[in-house]
Amino acid sequence: MNAIRLEGTAAAPGVAVGAVWRYAPGDPGAGAEAETASGDPAAAIRSAADEAARQLEALAERVRDLGRPDDAGIFEAQALMAGDPMLLDEAIRRAEEGERPAAAVQGAAAEAAAMLAGLEDELLAARAADVRDVGARIVRILTGTALDLPEGPSIAVADDLPPSVTAEIPPGFLLGVALAGGSRTAHAVILARGLGIPAIVGVEGLLGAADAAQEEVGGADLVAAMDGESGEVVLDPGPTEAEEFRARAVDLAGRRARAASLRDRPAATRDGERVVLVANIGSPGDAPRALEARAEGVGLFRTEFLFMKRQTPPTEAEQVAAYREVLEAFGPERPVVIRLADIGGDKAIPYLGLPAEANPFLGVRAIRLAYGSRDLLRTQLRAIWRAGALAAVTPHVMAPMVATVADVELLRSLRDEARDGLLAEGAPCAAGMVTGIMIEIPSAAILAPELALLIDFFSIGTNDLTQYLLAADRGNAALGALQDALHPAVLRTIAGVVRGADAAGIPVAVCGELAGDPAGAAVLVGLGVDELSADAGSLDGVREALAGATRPELDALAAAAVAAGDAETVRGLAGQLLARGLERLAAEAGAGRPRAAAGRG
Ligand code: PEP
Ligand code: MG
Repeated sequence: MNAIRLEGTAAAPGVAVGAVWRYAPGDPGAGAEAETASGDPAAAIRSAADEAARQLEALAERVRDLGRPDDAGIFEAQALMAGDPMLLDEAIRRAEEGERPAAAVQGAAAEAAAMLAGLEDELLAARAADVRDVGARIVRILTGTALDLPEGPSIAVADDLPPSVTAEIPPGFLLGVALAGGSRTAHAVILARGLGIPAIVGVEGLLGAADAAQEEVGGADLVAAMDGESGEVVLDPGPTEAEEFRARAVDLAGRRARAASLRDRPAATRDGERVVLVANIGSPGDAPRALEARAEGVGLFRTEFLFMKRQTPPTEAEQVAAYREVLEAFGPERPVVIRLADIGGDKAIPYLGLPAEANPFLGVRAIRLAYGSRDLLRTQLRAIWRAGALAAVTPHVMAPMVATVADVELLRSLRDEARDGLLAEGAPCAAGMVTGIMIEIPSAAILAPELALLIDFFSIGTNDLTQYLLAADRGNAALGALQDALHPAVLRTIAGVVRGADAAGIPVAVCGELAGDPAGAAVLVGLGVDELSADAGSLDGVREALAGATRPELDALAAAAVAAGDAETVRGLAGQLLARGLERLAAEAGAGRPRAAAGRG
């Protein structure tokens, strides 16, 4: 038969060719006889839910032992969901009305998931998938059906791939992930990036096409080829096409090896201008990956994650322990920027009991919470001062969502109040604190010259800055074209922020996603940004992009970018320069001679 070519959204780079493994969540029709034998549907549902919770707790323990505390947190939260009375009561109610227990559980889980998904909140939408997955696990237990796992290295094809399923796949058996649904922030995508395998999401018609292709090949293995950079998925490729994808994989492996070989020297442009490359982290557990990627520090520690997936705020002592762990992991030579909790907006923390808002992204979020009560940020700042003293380093702190001069004054007074309190108590307290703000609200960008006089550094949050400049909700998939931070409107704003910082003599970092995008990194350095902070997995690509171009070339790119009409044009221009850089690096690697930038400091 003819190969079927499909396209989706490129979500994680990599190229794979291999057998297809189809994942479909449990069908409550299967194993019906085993299920009806139990007699008491309520008892059967409760005991299956208990077993599901036990399995999920065991899974959490296993991945925690593997050094993946974030995944462990997901499974712990799922174990709680399995015992959630709302879910179980609804399932039992349905069973008592005559539905078979498995169908009742699946229906109740689907209803709870639909309710969460309807809240239009990215994080809660992700929890919807978690609830459905918990439901599927209880169904499997009720019907005695095993999770159908791949038997060899495979490309996963699914609507969505829940983390509790991926965690059960033997290491090395996942070559790539192609999803009909999902988003760039789906768990499966984050996992794929961590494993260095390709992921493509939003592939329209994928499941139907996979069924049709499987039917064509009959009992034989269905093969697929995918490219996580171009977004192409080919089902049942012919030998020539499969070979072409394999050649891309070899090419990519060469590029990755070259990029990794640049790790042993500090990031710099081709002509030797240094750019500080640091990592974004969400928990102390992310530190080893960042250090392995040769991050020169942390440009953004998103501390709000310490407040999530729990029932009460972390205590001051718990926070001291978390900050100290990160500060000690990076040591005095690699500064760590601890961002005060960015709570509100898309990061709801239910136990804080904050009032519901019609427009949370424009609401009482982050530093604004301190106008109502100073407690939350005071505790956090006390913990940072204490952690700095215990780790014997100067902590760097920054406030998110600063809009006005008053916000900076509030930050400074909270910082000093926390220090004075500790000193009065005779408690350990760092000698100083480097204090910065995020520039992610247009008013702060406009006020950059004034704000720069009040603090030590700027860090530009291009995710929110783009959302607010273009009035495009960052979580709304229908507005994709307006969410590209390479839009000249965003770049011109960044150029203005850099001018304001330069006049005051303070450094400017960028910690939004744009900094980890090689095209974005190239433009940002051309705009005069000093430091780029991105996910550890993006650092090699950024280092390579910078090594391939000279500073004058990047300056010319930035000048053309701010004058361009749209983001697409900017991407095209950056793409040409990056391609030229890669060719240069490949030619040099082939010739086995060192790069021209030798002698740089
Ligand atoms: C940003 O807005 O660019 C940013 C880095 O902060 P967050 O993504 O956490 O809102
Ligand atoms: Mg932000």
